[in-house]
Amino acid sequence: MMKSIIERISQGKFWQFHGGIHPPEQKKLTSEKPIRNIALPKQLILPLQQHIGSQGELLVTVGDKILKGQPLTKSLNPMSVPVHAPTSGIISAIKKSVIAHPSGLSELCIFIDVDGNDSWIKREICNDFKTLDKETIINKIASAGIAGMGGAGFPTHIKLSAKPEINFLIINAAECEPYITADDLLIREQSEAIIDGIKILDHLLTPAFILIGIEDNKPEAIKALQEATRNIEKIKVCILPTKYPTGGEKQLIKVLTGKEIKSGSLPINSGIIVQNIATCFAITDAVIHDIPLIRRVVTVSGKSLGKPQNIWALLGTPISYLLKQCDHTHENNNKLVVVMGGPLMGFSISNAQVPIIKTSNCILAPSAIEMPSAFSGKSNEVECIRCGQCSDVCPSQLMPQELQWSAKAKDYDQLNKLNLFDCIDCGACAYVCPSQIPLVEYYRIAKAEIRQQQLFDVKSEKAKTRFEARKIRLEKDKTARIEKHKKAAEARKAAMNNSTPEANGAKSAVAAALARVKAKKAASNNQKKSISNKEQHESNDQNHESSLKSNDNRKAKISATIAKVKAKKAQEASISKEVELNDSVTSTLKITDDKKVRIAATIAKAKAKEKEIDNKEEKVTFKSSSKNNQQKEST
Ligand code: SF4
Ligand code: SF4
Repeated sequence: MMKSIIERISQGKFWQFHGGIHPPEQKKLTSEKPIRNIALPKQLILPLQQHIGSQGELLVTVGDKILKGQPLTKSLNPMSVPVHAPTSGIISAIKKSVIAHPSGLSELCIFIDVDGNDSWIKREICNDFKTLDKETIINKIASAGIAGMGGAGFPTHIKLSAKPEINFLIINAAECEPYITADDLLIREQSEAIIDGIKILDHLLTPAFILIGIEDNKPEAIKALQEATRNIEKIKVCILPTKYPTGGEKQLIKVLTGKEIKSGSLPINSGIIVQNIATCFAITDAVIHDIPLIRRVVTVSGKSLGKPQNIWALLGTPISYLLKQCDHTHENNNKLVVVMGGPLMGFSISNAQVPIIKTSNCILAPSAIEMPSAFSGKSNEVECIRCGQCSDVCPSQLMPQELQWSAKAKDYDQLNKLNLFDCIDCGACAYVCPSQIPLVEYYRIAKAEIRQQQLFDVKSEKAKTRFEARKIRLEKDKTARIEKHKKAAEARKAAMNNSTPEANGAKSAVAAALARVKAKKAASNNQKKSISNKEQHESNDQNHESSLKSNDNRKAKISATIAKVKAKKAQEASISKEVELNDSVTSTLKITDDKKVRIAATIAKAKAKEKEIDNKEEKVTFKSSSKNNQQKEST
């Protein structure tokens, strides 16, 4: 199989990937000039994270003096690579600043005030990398902070640590996007160093074949590579027909080997590793010259520039500084219209302070004629007419129009079913869309939202796992505690039942304690009883006294009433005498008789009451004396 692939390649025959487009190349703007070295900028802004993975831990603080090549962060995990000082100076700030990202988000950055001396940290040059073992070489690549420079930014040492058998090491020199010529110029000027980097990769991975894929629109670079590899049988320079996006990883693999990398699968599973050609140059710098990744070639192009060109830019250089080097003229009332990356895969940036990072290969400053939509500031998007042109050109064989509908509806499940993450953001669909729908923008937003959701889900899952683990641990602790107490009680019981002198002593001590408790309880009960009796007696005495007092009052009242009645009776008697003397007034007599009857009844009632009270008084006196007698007896 491998042999037939090589035979095909030797005959200049390649496979085709699905779709693709042929946009105007616009490479001549910069491809005719050498890479320019520029003066040091006054300030550099270095984001801590410039790659896929996590950022490293800071090694410097504000005010530190730093040397060129000095590490500023250290890696905390394999997916992290450090950043280094691109020149000497002083750390003036460590704070959040806008970075090169479609969302325009801010990330933690190190601000370096450049001192202009460009003083290096001590380095160790290695003239023969073969004297180093593989692990040392991989460590050198990792600690130099190298991450894929083609745009993805995947940490290089991870790919190189792979153990499986490698059939093809593919070097991506396609550089298929319009305007961009950074790799083209690098190959022309640094072909020997690039081939040294490829030799280091060969030493580490020992692949069966090394294929350098380059499009046929770079004749000088092709010539340089062919000359540099003339005596290396293993390396094949593959000249590919120009078609966008041949430089996509899966597309390049398909063109060179005919192999399809399925959705969700990695090239390494098919015995293939792909590295960018600029990464090979960085590997040589790191392993041989002990130079970490602190600079890269950036194409600064577009028709609003007086001098479009390729520049050796230090990482952290603000794009405003690069635009100034290329005589940028603002055509839009000083409003910045700049694209980071190429016209198809790039994204607009509105802040001139955004710095160059490891993956920045192009700054595009177009004119209003080149990119009218960027200047109009309004979208010309109209409804999808279902023409299907987007599907025809999609190199990942997706259905861009359906992806767009699901992205607008935020239907993440459907987007996953439609393999959104196989989309390589190539922009071919948006390029051909007659409705001018910015399809890639919708996909980017949807991808960012799904990643955010996944992060949230992972965090929730971790929190749930922690909670469950805690619950189990507490349950275990409780069971262990109960078991411990049970065992201790059993041990005590067993010890008590033994007839040893200690056990007997313990038993008698327990019995004595029980007796003491019983005695104490009995004493307490007696005391309570006596207090209760005393209280009862006191209460009875009080009741008796109050009863006597009440009877005295009533007796006084009754005596007063009797006196009143007697006085009235005497009065009646005198009246009666008068009546007897005057028999002629019969009506008066009758009245007097009635009154007499009522008075007699009243007197009888009063007397009866008086008697009743006397009786009661006698009873109370009797009771009281009998109780007193009883108390006396009991005491
Ligand atoms: S190319 Fe544009 S208009 Fe045509 S189907 Fe695709 S999204 Fe719709
Ligand atoms: S951007 Fe995505 S959907 Fe559009 S053509 Fe490229 S791979 Fe296909």
